[in-house]
Amino acid sequence: MDFAISEKMQDLLARYRHFVDDELIPLEAEFLLKGMGPMQAAYDAKRERAKELGLWLPQIEKDHGGLGLSLVEHGLVSSELGRTPMGHYTCNCQAPDAGNMEILIQFGTDEQKAKYLEPLVAGEIRSCFSMTEPDFPGSNPTWMGTVAEKDGDDYVINGKKWFTSSADGAAFAIVMAVTNPEAPPHLRASQIIVPADTPGFNVDCNTPCMGHRGEGWVSHSEVSYDNVRVPQRNLLGAEGAGFIIAQERLGPGRIHHCMRWLGICERAWQLMCERAVSREVAPDRPLSSRQFVQGWIAESRAEINAARLAVLQAAWMIEKVGQKAARNEVSLIKFHTAKVLMDVLDRAIQVHGALGMTDYTPLAAWWRNERAGRIYDGADEVHKVSVAKRLVRPFAEAQAEEPAGAAQN
Ligand SMILES: Cc1cc2nc3c(=O)[nH]c(=O)nc-3n(C[C@H](O)[C@H](O)[C@H](O)COP(=O)(O)OP(=O)(O)OC[C@H]3O[C@@H](n4cnc5c(N)ncnc54)[C@H](O)[C@@H]3O)c2cc1C
Repeated sequence: MDFAISEKMQDLLARYRHFVDDELIPLEAEFLLKGMGPMQAAYDAKRERAKELGLWLPQIEKDHGGLGLSLVEHGLVSSELGRTPMGHYTCNCQAPDAGNMEILIQFGTDEQKAKYLEPLVAGEIRSCFSMTEPDFPGSNPTWMGTVAEKDGDDYVINGKKWFTSSADGAAFAIVMAVTNPEAPPHLRASQIIVPADTPGFNVDCNTPCMGHRGEGWVSHSEVSYDNVRVPQRNLLGAEGAGFIIAQERLGPGRIHHCMRWLGICERAWQLMCERAVSREVAPDRPLSSRQFVQGWIAESRAEINAARLAVLQAAWMIEKVGQKAARNEVSLIKFHTAKVLMDVLDRAIQVHGALGMTDYTPLAAWWRNERAGRIYDGADEVHKVSVAKRLVRPFAEAQAEEPAGAAQN
């Protein structure tokens, strides 16, 4: 087993690290206090800078203007970019656009690629993914209220979505809607591209989350589809394949999120250590001399290192044996890394005392925004239940094969 990172990747990672340290972290304080709106122009300029520096679209094939990194390689990049809140956005590998790019590449027609994918990878437009509904459980995406009915050459879409992240200012949505209500549950819904200027597509509001409504890319919207009419050629992939396509999107997406969270952990750990050595609780007695704090520093380091190996191994498995065979590993890292993230952030905030509650460090914003990691892309409990069912299956089968009476011994 060789854990070495190739020279080519070490060089690239150093370039991402410098970009984050030298160009993005200096914008952080203003972003944390003012929000996205007043900072849009500054981050747009950094997007151009990322292109100049050859850091644009790490996750996308070279054919579409990306760096063509493997999932493991992009995982490493994602961890570097995760060290600052706008890292992914400035390199155009942010959710939900990254996932939409992937499914457009995999399932889009030539026309869809020209119209939606090309401007998306160029960073000229943004997009959103509209699946979850306020009145149906997102944990069971085969059950939803939004419908798309055929009428002539069109689909007419009606329904209500929420938590359509980044719908505010997006040029198009990929919506999940039931097209085949009589089919088995997994084959009822389809994914359909809806340009945001289509009549009846309404971004009703940005939902306030933990005291913040957000704006632009940094927001989660309530979206209504009121007799939205789009041509049937806006169907993405096969009719009824919406759920299957959504699953395709989620495997690599979970790696991206986990590695981004580990980037946040790295920065939180760094801030925790810096604070621990600089804050004195009495003259010449820094916090780092206290065993509680030493314990937090050591435990956090161990948890980050362990999670990082597990996530990279899951990414490697997806590459080697495919998403289906790697699904246990992906479920395990999804809930485990989300917990490591919250634990590390919590300790870092604690070491900062009152300062940890302010927006003078990114810790509070991360705490607020990243708590959702235990809910989206499969809630913790859904992953735990499904992975435990699969893990216990061979034991149940072995038990069933035992001769009668043997189990009593
Ligand atoms: C910040 C954020 C961004 C998001 N972005 C998007 C987006 O861009 N597009 C989009 O379509 N959606 C998005 N979502 C929605 C997300 O996918 C859903 O919130 C998620 O699927 C859970 O669905 P739900 O909220 O309806 O919870 P529910 O399905 O109502 O579940 C509630 C809770 O019940 C428990 N639970 C559910 N099922 C089980 C089970 N089988 N066993 C045990 N416990 C269970 C879990 O604890 C779960 O948290 C986002 C959500 C958040 C918070």
